[in-house]
Amino acid sequence: MTLTDTDLTHLRRCVELAREALEDGDEPFGSLLVSASGEVLIEDRNRVKDGDHTRHPELAIAQWSARNLTVEERAAATVYTSGEHCPMCAAAHGWVGLGRIVAAVRSAQLTQWLEAWGEPEPAVATLAADEVVPGLAVDGPAPDLADEMQVLHRSRVERDRARR
Ligand code: ZN
Repeated sequence: MTLTDTDLTHLRRCVELAREALEDGDEPFGSLLVSASGEVLIEDRNRVKDGDHTRHPELAIAQWSARNLTVEERAAATVYTSGEHCPMCAAAHGWVGLGRIVAAVRSAQLTQWLEAWGEPEPAVATLAADEVVPGLAVDGPAPDLADEMQVLHRSRVERDRARR
């Protein structure tokens, strides 16, 4: 599906959340959950800096939706995210039965950037969200926002290298 202006508005907010996370010492990822009627239900961002590397916004959103939404509401909701779900978050998304994902950057693209910058392989394999959850609708990337996200990821890499 092509991205609409509404999709881009939500994705822009995800990029803002990602920037906020980066500026607070976390990794640049931000996500939000939108109901079938277009209401933003919850937004969150990466919070791994204290050492818990499962603190991804997409996992928090899946857990929140399991507590607060019916099965039907979850299926009709959309998760917007600055970067496509990792396998952990995609699995949580699939287990709670959430709907469409719209990502500013796809996982394959982020992996290419990190490889080109000489980053080590991640601890968890990279998979597209619809490889983890068969039949899941995943849209994106949004090229202009992906360019912005590339800058944020590059800053994260340089910050971590300066600390080593
Ligand atoms: Zn994740």
